[in-house]
Amino acid sequence: MPGTFKTEAIVLRSIRYGEADRVLHLYTADRGRVGAVAKGVRRVKSRLGGRLEPLSRVKLVLHQGRGELCTISQADTVHAHAGLRERRASLERGAQACEAVLRLLDSTDPNPPAYNLLCNELALLDERPEQASRAQALAFRLKLLLAAGFAPELASCAACGEAEHLGGFSPSAGGVVCAGCEAGSFPLGEEAHAFLAQAVARPLAEAPDAPERALSQADRAIAETMEYHAHVRLRRVA
Ligand SMILES: [Zn+2]
Repeated sequence: MPGTFKTEAIVLRSIRYGEADRVLHLYTADRGRVGAVAKGVRRVKSRLGGRLEPLSRVKLVLHQGRGELCTISQADTVHAHAGLRERRASLERGAQACEAVLRLLDSTDPNPPAYNLLCNELALLDERPEQASRAQALAFRLKLLLAAGFAPELASCAACGEAEHLGGFSPSAGGVVCAGCEAGSFPLGEEAHAFLAQAVARPLAEAPDAPERALSQADRAIAETMEYHAHVRLRRVA
């Protein structure tokens, strides 16, 4: 519906457009994914320019015309995440998080848990350099899967309900599987299984850690769940 509205958003991506404009992919607090044009932002004197960098959290006034893209008429910074931008590792993790949201959540349906999770992830990466770890990035990805409605079954066999001897992970069955149902699965060791279960249960700031081998198995479980159920293929978390 045409008109002007206010929302809060994270800038996921910014693309040069025309002579002085940018097209922004936004993930908003209450309208899901929104595409918007920021007119004249590449001019030196632009009022909006510096506030609309990717990874920024902003308050916006947008105008919805007849076209697909909104136009940004006002932008105020909520959180610029300046600390995150100073450290390469944090910046890469932040970009990974935005990329995952961009690929996995493309609807205009609001998803407050996903929005809050992304805000939380960027704030953690901004404030705490040690959060830029592979384990934390995997915990974020798993929580994002949950928020998107693709939670893998981790408590019992996804095929038969058995609670013991869970040594495999089957993307098609939708989670961990027991020895009797392991056709089509790959091995998921105890440490990887525990990592996934703890990553779901704990707040993002207290994400568990695990040995590299276990993290690689967890990475595969998350990635293949995403591919099989959401049809989204993301680069693995190195
Ligand atoms: Zn089973």
